[in-house]
Amino acid sequence: MNQGGVEVKNSYDIGVLGGGPGGYVAALRASQLGADVALIEENKLGGVCLNRGCIPTKTYLKHAKLIAEIKNSEKYGININGEVNPDWNKMKKRKDEVVKKLTSGVKSLLDNSGVDIFFGTGQIMPEHKILIYGDEKTEIICDNLLIASGSTPFRPDISGIKSDNVITSGEALDMPILPDELLILGGGVIGVEMADIFHGLGVEVKIIEIMDRILPEMDQEIASLLQRSLRKKGMEILVDRNVEKIKDLGDEIKAILADGQEISGDKLLVAAGRKANMKGLNDLDLIRENGFLQVDNYYWTGVGNIYAVGDVIGNNLLAHEAFEEGVAAVENMLENKKRSINYSNVPKCIYTIPAAASVGLQEMEARKKCEKIKIGSFPFSANGKALAEGEDEGFVKIISNQQGKIMGAHILGSGADEMINEFTISREREITANYLGNIIHPHPSLSEAVKEAALDVDGLALHSV
Ligand code: FAD
Repeated sequence: MNQGGVEVKNSYDIGVLGGGPGGYVAALRASQLGADVALIEENKLGGVCLNRGCIPTKTYLKHAKLIAEIKNSEKYGININGEVNPDWNKMKKRKDEVVKKLTSGVKSLLDNSGVDIFFGTGQIMPEHKILIYGDEKTEIICDNLLIASGSTPFRPDISGIKSDNVITSGEALDMPILPDELLILGGGVIGVEMADIFHGLGVEVKIIEIMDRILPEMDQEIASLLQRSLRKKGMEILVDRNVEKIKDLGDEIKAILADGQEISGDKLLVAAGRKANMKGLNDLDLIRENGFLQVDNYYWTGVGNIYAVGDVIGNNLLAHEAFEEGVAAVENMLENKKRSINYSNVPKCIYTIPAAASVGLQEMEARKKCEKIKIGSFPFSANGKALAEGEDEGFVKIISNQQGKIMGAHILGSGADEMINEFTISREREITANYLGNIIHPHPSLSEAVKEAALDVDGLALHSV
């Protein structure tokens, strides 16, 4: 059979629906295990992560960081005379180049692994058949199927939410011009990251959050400090506020709150969560719970040889979670393994300036689980590398039980997203706080704060003031 000039088969060991992090990594692993693999993608390889999520946001974050550094350059004895003018079109171009490099990299990896890629919308039919609506209609049969169809932004049921000036995270990344004022509905991870990026690019940002604080899924102490830090930069953060109505006046948009207050901006970005993408799944009798596909511990949907991973099954909606689930599911399918990933050890990062990261339990959760906990912490203001770099905001916090087992670890500060790995490994290998505190860390390094916080669990920090 020929598809777009490429010879393809009409039956495969595995068919993967979706070429995002869950799907493409699963396809690569399946191919390593010797399977004949078909991957169906209706849009661009790399999914939300590479095209509208992780990578574009982190590219813009670099731009925001650079602007902040230039504006702060006097602090380092460097006088820059003149204005700092972000060029949004050039930034978008750089973002597109980074994305293209990575998505073509994914294509090469799949090609080199012998995975057949079908560009088109897949529809899974009974008996493991997939209809693919691309340039032409194609039909393939697969012994096993993996659904990795991801998620799309959720728009809450608010009057006016579908108006032109209401955008989602994906659309925000490609706005034709930067707005002067951006309202963000939702102070979760995506809302806060977007807020920090656009504020850093010179946009006036207001976050409206229904809960009593932003980032409710984070340790309270870290979230409060980050909230204070974002406010100090000039961002407006309204908590405990419910948007009841949205009025789009064309050149202005108004969020009308339950208490009657009106907040205006040029655009309103909805960051109120995501929902599973069930496109192409209607002909199957799959179980859904809270809008996501339900699977057992080994990613089996309960129907035929059909498995599902990534955002479509819910959990933390993170790319690295989707990668690991994809690998585990394929090994379960092809090698009859019973693998699941350790959800209590999934690190979670927020890429703001400063960044935040955590793994394991929050302090409140740990207190509920364990009668007596120990807490060790260390501020970056006492860390040589952080001071030298002028990035001494934040701290490392470790929560352990009486035996020193690390129940949770939380970091606010530059490099938090890299340092958190020390705790993921420690938890995975059951390394105690004391053991971690006695491991040699390079000097000077930000990670010395990890060592000191670990020693502090037993009151043994050496550089604590
Ligand atoms: P997706 O990435 O959604 O991919 C699913 C793919 O399936 C899509 O390409 C879609 O086109 C395709 N598809 C769906 N249905 C069909 C069909 N019927 N036929 C053919 N193709 C189909 N996560 C992190 O870990 N770190 C971050 O820093 C981070 N930042 C983010 C920032 C933003 C703004 C957003 C929105 C998300 C971010 N995420 C981040 C989350 C991350 O992007 C997702 O968790 C990840 O992309 C999920 O991977 P997936 O493979 O499950 O689904």
